[in-house]
Amino acid sequence: MKGKNKELKKFSDEELLAEIISRSGSTKGLPTKTKCFKCSKDFWIKWNQTTQVPSKLHSWEYWTDKKTKDKICGSCLRSLYSNKSDFWTSVKDLKKRKILSGYVSNILG
Ligand SMILES: [Zn+2]
Repeated sequence: MKGKNKELKKFSDEELLAEIISRSGSTKGLPTKTKCFKCSKDFWIKWNQTTQVPSKLHSWEYWTDKKTKDKICGSCLRSLYSNKSDFWTSVKDLKKRKILSGYVSNILG
């Protein structure tokens, strides 16, 4: 028994995910790791089972309708929402303001 555990390599979530992607040849259904353009922290974007694409909630373009590939993390979305003047300048679409308000209060708590 001695030393047996050492033979079992411990995989990180990222290594496992990379393995799944390389085996299936697709990122469909899997979370995507990305960097927040505001705080530069890495975070995960969930796969949306309903729309069959990665969740749009972290896409800056989705909120602002500006052409950009920038991604924003949950905590930056929350601080954006709590700074009302920033929020109103950035998110012009009334429907999206409602969605963001719901997202911040329900999902982020
Ligand atoms: Zn952030």
